[in-house]
Amino acid sequence: MSCSPEELRRKSDDFLAKWQACKTQAGLDGFVEFAVTVSSFTGFLEVGGLSGLHQSAKALENKVLSLFDQLDGDALAPAAVENLERQIGELGARIDSFLLANAPPVLDRRMQGDNETGGDFEPLAELVASKTIWFVTKTPAMWQDLAVQAGYFNIQVEMCTLQNQPSTDREPVIVLVDAADVEPAAYAAGVKALRNRFSASNIIGLNLASDFETLRAALVAGCESCFTQGTAQAVIMARIVKMCGHEEEPPYRVLVVEDSRTASAVIQRTLKQAGLESMGITKPQEVLTALDKFQPDLVLMDMFMPGCTGVEVTRVIRQHEEFLSTPVVYLSGDSSIALQVDALRLGGDHFLTKPFNPVILNAVVKSKIDRYRTLRRSMTMDSLTGLLNHLTSKQRLETLIKAAEAERTALCVAMIDIDHFKNVNDSYGHPLGDQVIRSLAWLLKQRLRKTDVVGRYGGEEFLVILPDADAARAHQLLDRIRVDFSLFQHAVRDTSFSCTFSGGIAQFTPGLGGATAIKIADEALYIAKRQGRNQLVVA
Ligand code: GH3
Ligand code: MG
Ligand code: MG
Ligand code: MG
Repeated sequence: MSCSPEELRRKSDDFLAKWQACKTQAGLDGFVEFAVTVSSFTGFLEVGGLSGLHQSAKALENKVLSLFDQLDGDALAPAAVENLERQIGELGARIDSFLLANAPPVLDRRMQGDNETGGDFEPLAELVASKTIWFVTKTPAMWQDLAVQAGYFNIQVEMCTLQNQPSTDREPVIVLVDAADVEPAAYAAGVKALRNRFSASNIIGLNLASDFETLRAALVAGCESCFTQGTAQAVIMARIVKMCGHEEEPPYRVLVVEDSRTASAVIQRTLKQAGLESMGITKPQEVLTALDKFQPDLVLMDMFMPGCTGVEVTRVIRQHEEFLSTPVVYLSGDSSIALQVDALRLGGDHFLTKPFNPVILNAVVKSKIDRYRTLRRSMTMDSLTGLLNHLTSKQRLETLIKAAEAERTALCVAMIDIDHFKNVNDSYGHPLGDQVIRSLAWLLKQRLRKTDVVGRYGGEEFLVILPDADAARAHQLLDRIRVDFSLFQHAVRDTSFSCTFSGGIAQFTPGLGGATAIKIADEALYIAKRQGRNQLVVA
């Protein structure tokens, strides 16, 4: 959830230039082009985690879309132009002041493994740099435990009230605004003011009543999301950790199957404008190879191609289990209802007619991919921890082993198991046991490098894959986490307890399969347990 100031500047300039062109050109094409740019810029701000700017751009995008119905001939009414001009000016000014406030390059302070060696340190200015969050609350004592826990994840917490906020240039990643003991009108005004003050922060409502009007008012005022009264602190903590994490969504990928090179080029250009990656093939026979190689999130399928229809191609794709749920969107010049129904019945997800409206095309493609990725996430992730599940982490290990073999780089595999975990369940109950598992999952995720892989291998066992790390480095990385985890205080009623873990590390050598690497790490883990636990053993 980050982007560089240069990138924001470039995108913003591009967007303003498109608006100038749209004004002088005064035709439908210019307006459509501008609409595509607005939509793409809005998407960019969202992916970049610039929530405040995103909300402003989204409002502008909605405005632009509504104007499609009001085009007078091919021209916009002068009043509409004036209105847009003002809204665009406001957004531009907001971006300017945000960039100004973030002008000196700030280093990302997050701990990404071993920064001092310089190996994977990224000296890149990032706009969402500091890992500070605010609790805007009249009852800071209520959130004290959460604040302490957040500290273990390297997240600094500031407590303040709506009236008395710290003055700072660094935007907090999250601002949690507590509704307890605050009048609804004052609450809405406070959230609005925060929304105007911060361009990148996520604003989250806390302790809100769960009725429609309260939630609507909070969302309209500028909250990204809300927690209602009685939400468990663990749930809130989970959201905080996730938002402060460094997972980045890879760009959306679209495979375009279209026999006409011209049509394919136009489609790919439209997708590119919206920030999507694409690959085009003109021969339907190449579709399986292309799916394998490009791993798209969606296929845009021409309906009529020489020797073959799009529906036939889709049916072939569906015979391969790994592509069973890959969305297929048809593009066809023929708008007959019977054809559309047939296409959808035989494994298609959507039908668009040519010539396509680029705004609609991008909207359909993006929303289908969003859903697809959500679905895939639920299939590959463990629901308790959000880590990769057993099967997916093993598959990932095989992939990384292949890469390490091909590139002749080092790779380590570690098995980690919480010590005497049965005692935790027995003494404090299963839900608290779950909480301990979750906190170790978060800690591993937060503290390992972006390139490392963490999976929940079993109950309280984790598989960690460390590419580009030899055994000594793997030991160093994991041992710090081991020490910090042992210091972590797990809150229970009015007291707390601590836990430890043990781990076994295996360094990969060429020819060693994934299963064997895991077995060797497991044996090392067993030795660590036998030697007294709370330690790491290298095989
Ligand atoms: P050791 O130090 O030898 O690892 O001791 P241990 O008590 O941790 O032993 P073991 O690894 O055999 O026990 C794991 C226990 O974890 C058994 C099971 O009841 C519990 N467990 C497994 N999955 C979950 C889970 O998802 N949630 C909770 N709360 N407990 C779980
Ligand atoms: Mg065709
Ligand atoms: Mg175990
Ligand atoms: Mg155990």
